[in-house]
Amino acid sequence: SAKKEGRNRYSFFTKEMQARSTRTLLLENSLHDAIDANELSLNLQPQMDLKTGQVIAAEVLLRWNSHRLGTVSPAEFIPIAEDTGQILAIGEWVLRETVKLLKQWLEQGITPVRLAVNLSVVQFRTQDLPALIGKLLEEYQVPSHLLEVELTERGAMTNPDRAIETIRAFDQMGVQTSIDDFGTGYSSLSYLQRFSVYKLKIDQSFIRNMTTDTNDYAIVNAVITLAQQLGMKTIAEGVETKEQLEQLQQLDCDQIQGYYLSRPIPPKEFKDQFLTLNRLRQALN
Ligand code: C2E
Ligand code: MG
Ligand code: MG
Ligand code: MG
Repeated sequence: SAKKEGRNRYSFFTKEMQARSTRTLLLENSLHDAIDANELSLNLQPQMDLKTGQVIAAEVLLRWNSHRLGTVSPAEFIPIAEDTGQILAIGEWVLRETVKLLKQWLEQGITPVRLAVNLSVVQFRTQDLPALIGKLLEEYQVPSHLLEVELTERGAMTNPDRAIETIRAFDQMGVQTSIDDFGTGYSSLSYLQRFSVYKLKIDQSFIRNMTTDTNDYAIVNAVITLAQQLGMKTIAEGVETKEQLEQLQQLDCDQIQGYYLSRPIPPKEFKDQFLTLNRLRQALN
């Protein structure tokens, strides 16, 4: 009967919800000692300048290999860490490790590239990030232009005035800001103009089908034109094919990032594959 069916559906629903919250609790508990247990690491994904073909920067992407749970995607654990506030300690750890890595490269006589760190809106809301980052750069004697921060469009728009103020403080320190996942966060154009950001990262959902879907193509085209008008650079995220790369080049997009160039890889691999190569190219020119 309909009534019975309804009850069954209800009990199924609660079981699913319970399973989900059990997983969440497990993740929460395991995250508590992830830093101390050495379970976190950084991967780097190169960003290429489309005019020169040079790798000019890399995005820092957090990885968690839990003893208990195995590999957990940041897409799953970052939102939980944001809910519990654990993102503050984790975010600080990512920043410190990134600055330490830059320091190591400098000490090894390697010409570094700028590293872009993802910042959570929870960090933006609760911490004095410019002060924290300034302190780290000073502690390790790393020049500020080697660090970039990414804030999602959605995050920026949850408190635009706070975002504007913080981005301005970064700008004054020489730390560049990018707006991540651009096109998915409903920012008003008037705010966008007031964010003194360095570049817009065009969300990969628009890049995915841009070579076949005329709407996606039009959006990518419009974002690039808008950025040019506002004096911002553009980077396309999630570039996986040569066709996408070529179209982006035609549209005058500045930079690309994606599997076509490289997956996110450990820092050692990144150094061997991209930094050493950059140095050889420079030596030839
Ligand atoms: P995001 O910042 O937008 O990072 C881009 C995501 O796209 C990464 O997923 C990356 O591995 C993936 N990606 C790169 N190229 C391609 C491609 O060609 N095709 C496809 N399908 N995917 C590609 P990942 O590493 O799983 O990270 C997911 C999200 O987790 C990030 O999205 C970011 O929002 C968040 N995240 C990662 N690390 C951190 C961190 O240290 N702090 C904070 N607050 N968030 C982080
Ligand atoms: Mg990002
Ligand atoms: Mg993104
Ligand atoms: Mg994302």
